[in-house]
Order: sequence, then structure tokens, then C-alpha cells
Amino acid sequence: MSEDFYSVLGVSRDASEDEVKQAYREKASEYHPDVSDDPNADEKFKQAKKAKEVLTDDQKRQAYDQMGHDRFEQAEKRGGFDGGAGGRGGAGGMGGMGGGMGGGDPFGGMGGNMGGGMGDIFEQFFGGGGGRGGGRNGPQQGRDLRTSLTIELEEAAEGVRKQFTVARPETCPDCDGSGHPESADAETCPECDGRGQTTQVQQTALGRVQQTQTCRRCGGDGTLYSESCGTCGGDGRVRNEATLSVDIPAGIDDGQTLRMEREGAPGENNGPKGDLLIEVSVRQHPEFERDGDDLAHRAAISFPQATFGTSIEVPTLSGTVEMDVPASTQSGETFRLDGKGMPRLRRRGKGDLFVKVQVVTPDELNEEQREALEAFAEAGGEEVDVEAGFFKKIKNSL
Ligand SMILES: [Zn+2]
Ligand SMILES: [Zn+2]
Repeated sequence: MSEDFYSVLGVSRDASEDEVKQAYREKASEYHPDVSDDPNADEKFKQAKKAKEVLTDDQKRQAYDQMGHDRFEQAEKRGGFDGGAGGRGGAGGMGGMGGGMGGGDPFGGMGGNMGGGMGDIFEQFFGGGGGRGGGRNGPQQGRDLRTSLTIELEEAAEGVRKQFTVARPETCPDCDGSGHPESADAETCPECDGRGQTTQVQQTALGRVQQTQTCRRCGGDGTLYSESCGTCGGDGRVRNEATLSVDIPAGIDDGQTLRMEREGAPGENNGPKGDLLIEVSVRQHPEFERDGDDLAHRAAISFPQATFGTSIEVPTLSGTVEMDVPASTQSGETFRLDGKGMPRLRRRGKGDLFVKVQVVTPDELNEEQREALEAFAEAGGEEVDVEAGFFKKIKNSL
């Protein structure tokens, strides 16, 4: 099994394109088969090249981040990301998670479900052919709609099902999208003779230009009706609040987008619905800063604790843990708690929790403390000049 592309290049998950390119140049010169003594140089060179290709392509990188290394590689083997939209017909798009109603997992299931989900992911990132095109009067897929959701860091860590409402156009239930009651009389549009389009020829400086437009009179239907639908005013659509729920996978990062297929705007001429894109924001947490799968936390300890060593309580996303701080710890030293970070999206394992220990200088001392500290300083050969309750200067200080 090959290694995660970010670790191949030794860059963080939020590395910029420039950083990725820079890291690749370094690896490339290190492992170039012509110069390296490493027996695996050739393989490593290829891996670095591959990693750069994926991580500098926005679409591929997004797919990679969301699918995880293994699924991405499998997907690539199955279909190839370079085949372009044309290679894949509509098959993927219509099946898979389909309706998505009531919380279909937008990526297909975890593990096991490789076959089903994958077509959707191709669709999602590489815009497979299915249905979106169509002729002028053929079925056309509806627009994608966007919405956003904000979740807590704890929810991002566990994964969560969220219910939300979204206002979206839907096919008018009273006329079934036709725009007129069934009883309405129909006549062929005299403006376009039922073609739905009008053609105008214009004389311009560049010569005669033929312009074809959708007929304004009948709106492209080719037919006029004696009555329009009272509910939608002839539009065929109404705006509705829909309540949906979505499963947000554990490990999702701030700013990532989920796709619920066929939950967008209705299509034209019996085309499928568009999709609903959900941008997920993860709220900042008071105790943790997040960096990809890792978390960082700051803990305060006293000077004696730092000197003699101690054990402190550290919050994690799954409850408080005890952490040993060894003797002679310096302020700013960082300790790693393995596996106490965020779960990796779509992959096994978790990131780490980095605890940065800060030695806190007391801003108030009682009499006894001050005397003890003065004695401490003098015992170490420091000349102490105390004035108005403060150490004015400390000689020999570091
Ligand atoms: Zn017409
Ligand atoms: Zn209607």
C-alpha cells in the first residue's frame, strides 16, 4: 500500500499549492533516480510525482481529501480521473445514493460499499456526462442548490446527523409542473408555429447573423393554454421549505462540502433534479485549535510544577485525561497525546493532540512566597533588587 500523499511530500494538509510544489522539487531532487543511492529511489520519485499531481489539482485534491487515500487510489484504478467527462456515461449519476432523502450519506457508505458510492463521487468531482447536457428540448438536469450548516467540533469528531430546512423550487403539485390546469384548452402558438423557437435575421457589419431565440409568447412550449395554474401562475414551480437530514461524517473539516444528490432544483422536460451542496462550517472550540486531523491545546503550569514535574488534567474530545509533565519542563514545550486528535475522514485512525505547556509567572505573591522566591534567587547567585513588590531586575537570568 502506498503512503498518504501529504506525508509523501512532508507537507501539512492545508499546505498551499506553492508549498506542495516546493516540497515536490525537494523530494524530486532527493530521489531522482540519476542522483540517489536509495535503492527505492525510483519508486519514491514516482510517488512524489503522483502526490504533486493530485495535490496541485484543486478538484483532485478535494476528492482526495474527502475520499481518503485508499478509496481515492481505488477509484482511480477503477475509472481513472483523467478520462474526462465523456468517458463515463450517465450510469453513475442516477444510481447510487439516489434519493438521498432522510440522510443518505453523500459519499456512499463507509468501507464495504465501494461499488455503489464510487460512481457518485466521480459525478461529484469530475462531472460525469449524465443528463446535464441534453438538447434544447431534451431532458435537462435541474440546478444545483447550495446551503450551509454549522456544527460543533465535538460533532465533527463523532459524526452527526443534522436536520435542516432549505427553501428550494419544487415542481408545482397542482399542475405537476405543466403550468396549466388539465382542463385548459390548448392551441398551437401562432408566434412560432409550435416550434418553440423564433429565428431572426439581422444585418450587421459582419454580415447576416441568424439568431434563434426561445419563443417569448409560449415560453418555448409551442403551445398556448387558455388558463394558467393558479398555484404557480404558469411557472410550473413553487418555492417550498423542505426539511432534510444529512449524515455528516466524522472527521469533516471546516469548509468542506457535502453533496446530496437529486435534492436540488427540479429538471426540465423530465430531467433529473440537480443536487444540493452543503457547505459545512465547524465552529471554533475554546479548548482546541485544529490543524487537519490534529488538535492543539494550551495548558498552564506553575514554575514549581515545571521544575519538579507533575501530572495535569488535559481535556480531550472524549473526556479528561491525566498527562505527566516531566521535571525540568521548559515553558512552550509540547507533548503529544497519540490518537487524541480528530478522526481521519473516511479513513481509520485519528490524529494526535498536542499539548503545549506554558509556565505561568504569578502576578501576585503573598509575603511568604516572595521571601521564598528571593531566597531561591539568592541561593542561585542572583542579585535581587526588590522594589514595590516586583523583581526590578534579575541578573544572570536567561
Ligand atoms: Zn411560441
Ligand atoms: Zn402549477
